[in-house]
Amino acid sequence: MRPTKAIIDLDALRHNFKTIQRIASDSRVIAVVKADAYGHGLAHIATALPDAEMFAVATPLEAYTLRDAGIKQPILLLEGFFEEKELPKIVDNDLHLVVHHSPQIEALQRLETNKKLNIWLKIDSGMNRLGFKVEELPQIEKDLAKVECINKPIRLMSHFASADDPKDCFTDQQLKTFLKSTKHLILERSMANSAGILEAHDAHFDWVRPGLVLYGCSPMVGTTGADYGLQPVMNLESQIMSIRHVKKGESTGYGRHWFAEKDTMIGLVAIGYGDGYPRHAKNGTPVWVNGRTVPLVGRVSMDMLAVELGAKHNDKIGDRVVLWGKELPAEVVAAHADTIPYTLSCGVTGRVHFEYR
Ligand code: PLP
Repeated sequence: MRPTKAIIDLDALRHNFKTIQRIASDSRVIAVVKADAYGHGLAHIATALPDAEMFAVATPLEAYTLRDAGIKQPILLLEGFFEEKELPKIVDNDLHLVVHHSPQIEALQRLETNKKLNIWLKIDSGMNRLGFKVEELPQIEKDLAKVECINKPIRLMSHFASADDPKDCFTDQQLKTFLKSTKHLILERSMANSAGILEAHDAHFDWVRPGLVLYGCSPMVGTTGADYGLQPVMNLESQIMSIRHVKKGESTGYGRHWFAEKDTMIGLVAIGYGDGYPRHAKNGTPVWVNGRTVPLVGRVSMDMLAVELGAKHNDKIGDRVVLWGKELPAEVVAAHADTIPYTLSCGVTGRVHFEYR
């Protein structure tokens, strides 16, 4: 078997969950498991978190996958619903709905059902993505009063645009907008994503919605999960599949994007962009081999990448290589690839063998 695998550490996941509970000790936790649990495997992750009081996903299909896997906790649909005809199945599966624009309220007014739905009203506190504007709220409150099929009281939520940058005062501005626009409503609230949980403690409210921190990474610029006591859940690893000598001035790989400055040895590693390793990772991106990091050299290919082992090395074909995980934080790799750790785990493809431990 090709040795390219993602080892998913479920103890680390549970440790991170407890860490979140400790940081946001007065809040209940909605574990965000959309996008296949950020690439970690939706059903495996949710099943390993029996203490999560609720899960959040983006699409109804993700929610049905959780129900099929035996998940009994409430599941929140972060994007609400797209088509009115989906509503009966959403009701049958007892999903919580985010309501973020008026056509959804109109559809709920038309829905004929004996059951009651739980809804979360999304308020746009400044991100200008989904949600009702503050000035729309008085009308929305009246419109919702006419919807018979929802449980009351409803809940309120909003989302941060830049809480990952502690220097950006927009987070505080959003928090004030959310509080001011909803202070007359005695309802449960939710605002904090991972960054909000770590650094905006005033935004914890009744429910926190951690995604990235569950998987052990930090969203805060220039930090890693370890800075907050988190442990990486995904360990992406492979092996050296070939070692070769490269003379000073020679190149390796497509496009000749790296030239050896001196005679050296390179190792070819059995992982490439076909497995989800970012093709735009730059020369010098760290790769862990035998207890040290060595630089990525040349363009990442579909099935392999090259690292410079150095003229004097003791590495052998078959030696373990870590692309990110315990030995090498995904945040560091992401920074070298001009991206964020979210895209790294989400990008791991179905060709990679997943092992849950
Ligand atoms: N809440 C909402 C509405 C989201 O869209 C997301 C993810 O994008 C999250 C919470 C979780 O965010 P994070 O992974 O930064 O914790």
